[in-house]
Amino acid sequence: MGQEDRSGAQDGADLEVWIDQDLCTGDGICVQYAPEVFELDIDGLAYVKGSDDELLQQPGATTRVPLPLLRDVADSAKECPGDCIHVRRVADQVEVYGPDAA
Ligand code: SF4
Repeated sequence: MGQEDRSGAQDGADLEVWIDQDLCTGDGICVQYAPEVFELDIDGLAYVKGSDDELLQQPGATTRVPLPLLRDVADSAKECPGDCIHVRRVADQVEVYGPDAA
């Protein structure tokens, strides 16, 4: 039915994203998809960015996914060769895109 890639999406729900740097390969695919959200640091690994554009380098740090960028962020999670981009609902912490999504 062509709906499978939207099965985890919750229209209008607040989503957040985090990266498991232990698995990041540093290829930069996520940065190509959504440079507003992801950035490669000097250590060669990708991090999410806060609303003020600074890198959030604490392990498991999350940032909100702006709704207009949801498709780009979801595609990043799907294409990430390290399977280390996790997108989850803020409300119940359920992963909607990423390796732990249902
Ligand atoms: S796509 Fe995944 S593996 Fe590649 S840089 Fe981004 S987080 Fe790291």
